[in-house]
Amino acid sequence: MIIKPYSNSVHLEAMELLAKRLPLMHPFYNKLLIEIQTTRAGDYGEKIVFKELEKLQLPFKCFVFHKVMLRTEKTFEMDVLLITPYGAVILEIKNITGKLEFKENPSQLIQTRDSGEVNNYPCPVTQLTEYKYLLSKFLSAHNFSIPVNGAIVFATRKSFVETSSSKASILYTNEIHSYLRNLQDHTPVLTNSQIDLLKKLILKKNSPFSYFPLTKHFYIDASDVIRGVACPNCGQIGMQKIQKKWYCPQCYLKDSKAHIESLRTYFLLCNNYITNKTCREFLLLNSRYEAKRILINSSLIKIGDKKSTKYIMKSSIPREYSP
Ligand SMILES: [Zn+2]
Repeated sequence: MIIKPYSNSVHLEAMELLAKRLPLMHPFYNKLLIEIQTTRAGDYGEKIVFKELEKLQLPFKCFVFHKVMLRTEKTFEMDVLLITPYGAVILEIKNITGKLEFKENPSQLIQTRDSGEVNNYPCPVTQLTEYKYLLSKFLSAHNFSIPVNGAIVFATRKSFVETSSSKASILYTNEIHSYLRNLQDHTPVLTNSQIDLLKKLILKKNSPFSYFPLTKHFYIDASDVIRGVACPNCGQIGMQKIQKKWYCPQCYLKDSKAHIESLRTYFLLCNNYITNKTCREFLLLNSRYEAKRILINSSLIKIGDKKSTKYIMKSSIPREYSP
């Protein structure tokens, strides 16, 4: 049973917005494109695996969680967490294509693409071992001393594992079902009501990492972000406010609500609060009255008064922000 379903990452969406608003010559621009590519591939892999998990039919209770972040001696985020009567299972999902070799001492994953290009990645086995240790610590601290199993899942058949590792189970997506079914060879350690209790604990303790504002996360100066309202039709940044509507000089679109997405972009990229002045600067408005009208009509929370007035989002997670 899916308890915390797959959801697209706001982090990826925010990085894509940043790529549209950074000058091409910016020193971080190329790194950002690589980061977007890696995250997009990772998200796609998780989506594929989740589709498989949705089809699961197991002869025992099994709760499935996408992206759970817990804290113990360190903060750690698992791609997929499952709670079963036989213990917890962590699935670390990889969407790395080409020929793959697991190396030890030092541990790394070496990818050779069809083109011959070779890349090194941190070893997922080491990562999984660490997460299993941290999850055991977390569970023991909450009086659940249960086994923690784990596997590395390659989302697609475009990954050819040439040299495997003896230190972890390595699966393709279509092997997840039998891997989980085999848990029944172990002795049950949790009753159904204990599984319910553990579910509540995990949902309560899950604390998503905040990447926002993204410029702060990447140590970029927020003033490097290109300002202006983005056209919802052609994407051009710099719509002009003419009377009551935003006008796009490129595709001639007229739209009275075009500022809404750009205001959300501001919160994702630049700062976690906005003032009348920074609103005028970002949306390229001349009138403080116009900025005030926009801010008070955008479902934001007003803090302070007169010159110290600022506005914050109702939710700390920008996904839920809908002016
Ligand atoms: Zn346009």
